[in-house]
Amino acid sequence: MSRRGELDAIVVGGGAIGAALALGLARDGFDIALVEARAPTPWNASDDVDLRVVALASDARLLFENLGVWAAIAGARIGPYRRMRVWDALAPGELAFDAAENGEAALGWIVENGLVQHALWSALGAEPRARVLCPAEVAGVDNDDEGVAATLADGTRLRARVLVAADGAQSPLRKALGIDCDDRDYAQRAVVANVATARPHEETAWQRFLPGGPLAFLPLADGRSSIVWSLPGAEAARVLALDDAAFRAELGAAFDFRLGEIVSSTPRAAFPLRLRLAKRYVAGRSVLAGDAAHVVHPLAGQGMNLGFRDVACLRRVLRDARDRGGDFGAPHVLRRYERERRSENALAAHGLDAIERLFGATDPLTPTLRGAGLALVDRLAPVKHVFAAIAAGRS
Ligand SMILES: Cc1cc2nc3c(=O)[nH]c(=O)nc-3n(C[C@H](O)[C@H](O)[C@H](O)COP(=O)(O)OP(=O)(O)OC[C@H]3O[C@@H](n4cnc5c(N)ncnc54)[C@H](O)[C@@H]3O)c2cc1C
Repeated sequence: MSRRGELDAIVVGGGAIGAALALGLARDGFDIALVEARAPTPWNASDDVDLRVVALASDARLLFENLGVWAAIAGARIGPYRRMRVWDALAPGELAFDAAENGEAALGWIVENGLVQHALWSALGAEPRARVLCPAEVAGVDNDDEGVAATLADGTRLRARVLVAADGAQSPLRKALGIDCDDRDYAQRAVVANVATARPHEETAWQRFLPGGPLAFLPLADGRSSIVWSLPGAEAARVLALDDAAFRAELGAAFDFRLGEIVSSTPRAAFPLRLRLAKRYVAGRSVLAGDAAHVVHPLAGQGMNLGFRDVACLRRVLRDARDRGGDFGAPHVLRRYERERRSENALAAHGLDAIERLFGATDPLTPTLRGAGLALVDRLAPVKHVFAAIAAGRS
């Protein structure tokens, strides 16, 4: 604890972003408390693969190596993807990325959300500078010139120099702090399931753009694929209600049978899709990170990766301020983080939004343009490398 028994930082929300940040700050020598409302579901190698998976980019791997959790994740259950293929249902052309073109072994890794959280929480449990309060809910936040206080639902008060709200897309704290958002409902839901296909997935992340939304097949370690099928709300409801045989037949056709017939499938789940960008990240000594700050379309698997870039940036900014002997929780310090991350997150979100709109459009001219676009991008090696670098987190 620092002066007057107060903490250095309070992190609210123990999802992947809050847990990574809490662990990182503790490793950086800060005394922190992590407050999480719900205990994470335990992850076991003997359980079936989680329906929620994430495509981790190279810089997320670097962060995990830095936190000392990569070996645990990679040694558990992880599917590298070495290639990416993107094509369109309404026009010719295909975009192809290959890790070997950049001299790399993989473009990224498909990992279960539950495994990421499990590895981070296990490491946090052994971290003397981290205090984990769970189940515990933050009910209110008070910022003042000297520090910030969090009041838990049971009345406990915590005080720190800085508070990070990593409390997810709904972020009750963002609302409590009076931070508004730009918000757009895609009127889509992403249907997810794990499926086995007649042909191997070739360690390739596949994505087909359909008029209703993109359909991705992500390669799992056990040879199956995790599908993320973005559909207009009513279509998603219909697809969720299909029996297994009808679902597999429709899914195979929607995917152009690129990996042959769908031979088995797990139960399905669905998630509503929004674009949501906080108009500012800082209120007094409180700051937003992860989905609390930005929610993007999942079409390029960027949401959590952007959050890990928030983590890396916020750690650097707080560390630098502390090492210079400054007040690391002061609003002007937090605004350095805001300036850097808000612009990059907004750029990524609007880029994904533009792609979603382009491929979602159904006027007669647009399919020709978008097919030409994919074919053109595929031929323009330098542009493609920039695309690949951004996707791999090397921007
Ligand atoms: C279908 C789909 C596919 C996706 N695929 C990818 C992908 O391939 N790659 C990628 O990078 N991203 C992907 N994403 C996005 C990614 O899942 C999210 O960006 C990420 O999970 C956000 O993590 P988080 O820690 O910010 O929030 P969350 O995981 O929502 O965690 C927030 C936590 O805060 C807790 N909390 C809330 N309020 C309080 C409170 N008052 N007190 C205490 N605790 C509180 C909650 O219990 C929760 O545990 C996808 C999203 C969807 C919907």
